[in-house]
Amino acid sequence: MNDCIFCKIIAGDIPSAKVYEDESVYAFRDINPQAPVHVLVVPKEHISCANEITAENSGAVAKIFEAIPKIAAAEGLSNGYRVINCCGEDGGQTVFHLHFHILGGKKLSESF
Ligand code: AMP
Ligand code: ZN
Repeated sequence: MNDCIFCKIIAGDIPSAKVYEDESVYAFRDINPQAPVHVLVVPKEHISCANEITAENSGAVAKIFEAIPKIAAAEGLSNGYRVINCCGEDGGQTVFHLHFHILGGKKLSESF
């Protein structure tokens, strides 16, 4: 059984505030926003983290980066934004389904 919360969101079993969807990408608002715009972009295929990206599944990651400018434009982020991926414990990853944070809507801090 797949206990992944983001797989359940993609399947519609857990509600989410969807902002974008195509055949391989799903994007929704972070439940705990860290900026005026905080969207999570995920592959529909379960990939647990950046370390699991391979030649076989990297097309899903390319699709994410094709979707990001469309999402940013739809969210009004014409002055820029930040894309973040957290990988593993030291990276601060808490959900082990690959995801990219889009943060924007204000001038972001330069520190991490
Ligand atoms: P990370 O720390 O990079 O693994 O990010 C996981 C993110 O998922 C956090 O920013 C959480 O606020 C967010 N999150 C967790 N559960 C949900 C949910 N049900 N809907 C939307 N965002 C969520
Ligand atoms: Zn998953």
